[in-house]
Amino acid sequence: MATIIDGKAIAAEVRGRLKERAEQFAQKHSHKPGLAVILVGDDPASKIYVRNKEKACEKSGIAASTYRLSADTAQSELIALIEKLNSSADVHGILVQLPLPAQIETQRVLEAISPLKDVDGFHPYNAGKLLQSSALLEPCTPKGCIRLIKTTGIELSGKNAVVIGRSNLVGKPLAVMLERENCTVTLCHSKTKDLEYHLKNADIVVCAVGKARILDGSFLKPGCTVIDVGINRLSDGTVCGDVDFDSAAEKAAFITPVPGGVGPMTIAMLLENTIIAAEAFNA
Ligand code: NAP
Repeated sequence: MATIIDGKAIAAEVRGRLKERAEQFAQKHSHKPGLAVILVGDDPASKIYVRNKEKACEKSGIAASTYRLSADTAQSELIALIEKLNSSADVHGILVQLPLPAQIETQRVLEAISPLKDVDGFHPYNAGKLLQSSALLEPCTPKGCIRLIKTTGIELSGKNAVVIGRSNLVGKPLAVMLERENCTVTLCHSKTKDLEYHLKNADIVVCAVGKARILDGSFLKPGCTVIDVGINRLSDGTVCGDVDFDSAAEKAAFITPVPGGVGPMTIAMLLENTIIAAEAFNA
């Protein structure tokens, strides 16, 4: 039976250390590290995510300011707000909660954020720096996945890693980060033929697809590490991951649960990026 990687507990530890770092920053500079969060529209899930980020900032000594804009906000208005925040000395990180309403081009908006304040790590400049292993701000979810894997104590170098899902936000940057750890990485997606074949030799499996329980334990190599990024809301209101937890836990040595795995670490990495950006801004 697998050991559960307790993302909630690990994230709480990380946040404890970040709180000390934020306090040191505040003492030195007479103001807290600042995060601006922009929420456009009333998507219920986005509202919950933003509230959770606000609460996490409060607890960690980061000043969060949330800008709530109506669903019919024009792209130019949103970009004007980002430009104002780009030049504000109190704001060290800017986060635009996704998804955005249809009239707004997400990529244009993400590119309007100063790369120095891009705490989500989605700006093409930071994506390019990530490829060169020199990004100051790396995307939070993949960064959190790497931290979670490292808590197991397994040696990453030389391991076979399979990442399922190739989004710009999760799968693709994670594949780059695993390669940087000297894993041999296979990046799978919806057109991959014979996923089972790739999984047979995978020491590390990360599933970031967004389909409830598509990954069954029978596919897995005994003793592997499984990181479940997926968040899927079922018709009864409960949340589950992309991995069928019970069957995967029978085969794996380590596994993350959903909820309580990658999610809390993503928020912890957002806080860390905000502090990194604040320290760099004032260096
Ligand atoms: P996304 O942009 O929709 O990407 C999904 C990826 O899965 C795509 O690359 C797609 O392939 C691939 N895919 C779809 N069906 C597949 C199949 N049957 N077999 C193999 N690959 C398949 O999603 P995302 O933004 O990366 O998010 C993925 C999941 O992670 C979602 O549930 C999301 O809510 C969750 N998430 C969680 C956190 C967290 O903090 N825990 C953070 C971010 C995202 P193609 O490219 O070929 O279409």
